[in-house]
Amino acid sequence: MLELLIYHFCPDTLNLYGDRGNIICLKKRCEWRGIPVRIEEIRTPEDAKPSGCDLFMIGGGSDREQSIATNRLTPMVKEIKAWIEDGVSGLTICGGYQFLGDYYETKNGEKLKGMGILPFYSKAEKDRLMTNILVESERFGRIVGFENHGGRTYHDFLPLGKVVNGFGNNEESREEGLHYHHLIGTYLHGPILPKNPQIADYLIEKAYERKTGKKLEQLDDRLEEAANQTVWERFRQSKPTKYRNEA
Ligand code: GLN
Repeated sequence: MLELLIYHFCPDTLNLYGDRGNIICLKKRCEWRGIPVRIEEIRTPEDAKPSGCDLFMIGGGSDREQSIATNRLTPMVKEIKAWIEDGVSGLTICGGYQFLGDYYETKNGEKLKGMGILPFYSKAEKDRLMTNILVESERFGRIVGFENHGGRTYHDFLPLGKVVNGFGNNEESREEGLHYHHLIGTYLHGPILPKNPQIADYLIEKAYERKTGKKLEQLDDRLEEAANQTVWERFRQSKPTKYRNEA
C-alpha cells in the first residue's frame, strides 16, 4: 500500500512556537483524503533511510539549538541536497530555514556554520523582529503567520511572497521566505500550515504526484480560509514591533 513518508527533522531541538502543528496538519490533510501517511522523527543521520522521504519539515530553534542540529545533521548534506534537487517537498522554518544556508552570524559576530545546502546567509542584529506577519504571494495568495527572529536572511532565490505587514527575510527587501523547486523556507511560525492550507496542499500535492502520478483531491477549506481572513483583517493596519535582542 502506498504511503507518504514524512521526515520531521530535529523535533527535540528545532521546535519553537507550535512548529510541530505543521506535522499534525500535513498528517490530517492526508488522512482526510484517505492517503496513508507515516511520520518519522530524524534526530541523527542514522534515523533516516538512504531512499529518503516524500516530504520533510524542519522547524525553528534558538541559535544554540540551531548549531547543535547543524552539527548533528551535517553528514546528511549530500542526501538532503539531492532530495531537494529531485523534487522532494520540504518546509523549513526560521532557524530551520537559516540552517540551510552557508552560515548564520550571531549578534555577537560569531559565524555559525550552516548546512550549506543553498548559497545564502543570515546575520543577526541587535533588534529582534517579532510580530504578526502578512505576506502576499503570487503562488499562494494571502499568507498569515507570526515571526520572531534576530537573524536577517539574504538570498537571490525566488521569495515566498511580498511582505504586506511585518518584516520577513530582512528589513530592506520587503520579501519573505524562499521558494526553490518544492522547498519552502519561511520565517512564519504559528504554525504556518493550518491557517494557510494552500501551502500545506502544495507540499502534499507535489509529494503525492511525484509518488503516484495522481492528482490531489480538493478539501472543503472554508474554516481554514475564514481563519486566514480573520488574521489578515486583524493585523492589516497594526504596526510591526522590534525588540532588543537579549536572547
Ligand atoms: N535563532 C534564529 C534567530 O533568532 C532563529 C529563531 C527562530 O527559529 N525563531 O534568528
